[in-house]
Amino acid sequence: MDDRLGRRVWALFTPYRTTLVVIVVAVLASSGLGIITPFLTQAAFDRALFPVDGSPVDLPLLCWLVAGMVVIPIVASLIGVFQTWQTTLLGNRVMADLRGRLFEHLQRMDLSFFTATRTGAIQSRLANDVGGVQSVLSETASSILGNVVTVTAALVAMILLSWQLTLVAIVLMPVFVLLQTRVGRVRQRIAGRTQESLSDMTAITEESLSVSGVLLAKVFNRQAYEIERYRAENARQVGLQVRQAMTGQSFFAVVMTFMNVTPALVYLVAGFLIAAGTGVSAGTIVAFTTLQGRLIFPTVNLLRVGLDVQTSLALFRRIFEYLDLKPRIVDAPAARVLPPSPEPGRVELENVWFAYPSDTSGEPAWAVRDVSFVVEPGQLAAIVGPSGSGKTTLSYLVPRLYDVDRGRVLIDGQDVRELTQASVADAIGMVTQDTYLLHATVADNLRYAKPDATDAELEAAARAANIHDRILSFAEGYDTVVGERGYRLSGGEKQRLAIARVLLSDPRILILDEATSALDTTSERLVQDALENATSRRTTIAIAHRLSTVLGADVILAVDEGRIVERGTHAELLARGGLYARLYTEQFAGGAVEARCADGVLFRDGSTVCDQHRRAGAVAAPVA
Ligand code: ADP
Repeated sequence: MDDRLGRRVWALFTPYRTTLVVIVVAVLASSGLGIITPFLTQAAFDRALFPVDGSPVDLPLLCWLVAGMVVIPIVASLIGVFQTWQTTLLGNRVMADLRGRLFEHLQRMDLSFFTATRTGAIQSRLANDVGGVQSVLSETASSILGNVVTVTAALVAMILLSWQLTLVAIVLMPVFVLLQTRVGRVRQRIAGRTQESLSDMTAITEESLSVSGVLLAKVFNRQAYEIERYRAENARQVGLQVRQAMTGQSFFAVVMTFMNVTPALVYLVAGFLIAAGTGVSAGTIVAFTTLQGRLIFPTVNLLRVGLDVQTSLALFRRIFEYLDLKPRIVDAPAARVLPPSPEPGRVELENVWFAYPSDTSGEPAWAVRDVSFVVEPGQLAAIVGPSGSGKTTLSYLVPRLYDVDRGRVLIDGQDVRELTQASVADAIGMVTQDTYLLHATVADNLRYAKPDATDAELEAAARAANIHDRILSFAEGYDTVVGERGYRLSGGEKQRLAIARVLLSDPRILILDEATSALDTTSERLVQDALENATSRRTTIAIAHRLSTVLGADVILAVDEGRIVERGTHAELLARGGLYARLYTEQFAGGAVEARCADGVLFRDGSTVCDQHRRAGAVAAPVA
């Protein structure tokens, strides 16, 4: 293993030095005690049972020796239990630290990391990889120490008993070590591939067993393809797992054979030694064969642990790879806090250029080109443009979900890169197109925006978002579980819940990505009302898909291929007859999203949508 990796793994343990010392002492004590028993055996044979000087059985001595042979293993076992407890505790704590660090680190990664990585792959790293190193973290370290101590002590004791027999016992050891290194390398390679395949499988499961994934497969009749994809990866798993198990197992078969054969060799050599007149007592031979177990078992263990360590090191490398990823967006060293204020914020983009991070060099594919605009406090700016023109990207640059490549994004006149991310996030609220709800109660989902909100605040926000009555109609009211596996809300209800959530956080700047899907008239009116409440007394940047939004906007920015090609009010832009006029007839007035005149919907100036329609010359009279 390379030094750096070793040092990093070691660093994980350093907060637990005291526990480590306790474990080391326990290991030394239990392994040391284990070595005493063979000497008691030798004494029992040569001094008590069959004294070498030919005297009769020494019963009192035998009793003492037997007492020792009973007590010592008991004490050693008790220490062993204590040691296991301590090492398990240590291992699990270190693993929890690692998992926690990884989660924390991933939370801090910027959006581009997640758009470029499969969700399943990230989850696999947290679950499978960190789980995979558990053995190293818990048992392995102490097992290495314990086995090394036992092997060393056994070797010393064996040499003391008979150096000639010791030679016989250890002559084959180098073969083991060689074999182990080779097997280890193969296993490490297979383990890496197994983890990759596991992570692929998790990703496939993630993608195809989610609601949207299943829907996609069903709609395109691609279930057979999904099943085949999974089956192929699954079959690959079988091959890899079997190879991994078998490489280890064939190696152990060799070891076990060796272990059963060496005692016979010892008897043979002892016979030759006695015949040659070298005094080897029966007690020495018995003690020696007992010790041999203490030499071979721990060596086998060490080799196995060696394999585990190598496998785990591959996993550690993968985990550290993730921990080493640098978030692209971090607070500047001298970042200032954007002071909270009850006033709406001011947003300005100054010659902003932006391209999504990519591996290819050369001229970047600009998603935003030289964009400048100002949204004064309290204004509503509507961004319109064809799909892929850069509307969403622009909306992401304001709360600094991405950093601009050139130019500046200013909030209240301050560059967002010089402000703390937390204070920027507090000032800006976002309602995205797809409302993401947690699998939790309605109240919990709302409180995500403001954990200390009172029930009255929840209700006020829900009322303003026109969702309060609907929530009360659920059997469990605010305690109804919604989200991933909870109660299904309709599109309009979800939007209103998202609006209530953002109202609760009460941002000074609101970024609104309007849902493209059309709602029925009633829902539309409810959402419209909710939005009116959300955008009043706030600076709003809306990616507009709804007629009422463009009509109510203080300024409309028409975006094409990352550039602002037109700006002005609805009437001005319509008169120009350019991109906006075209979009307007296609998207807004054409009825694709919203063309119905909803009477009770009022604008800030008190006019209805119908008035606005008429004023804009879109329709002559209300549509039924
Ligand atoms: P709009 O919201 O107007 O439909 P977007 O802002 O989503 O457009 O996209 C603008 C351009 O940036 C498109 O060409 C799109 O392919 C590209 N793009 C969007 N998101 C990413 C991403 N995460 N990585 C790379 N390119 C992206």
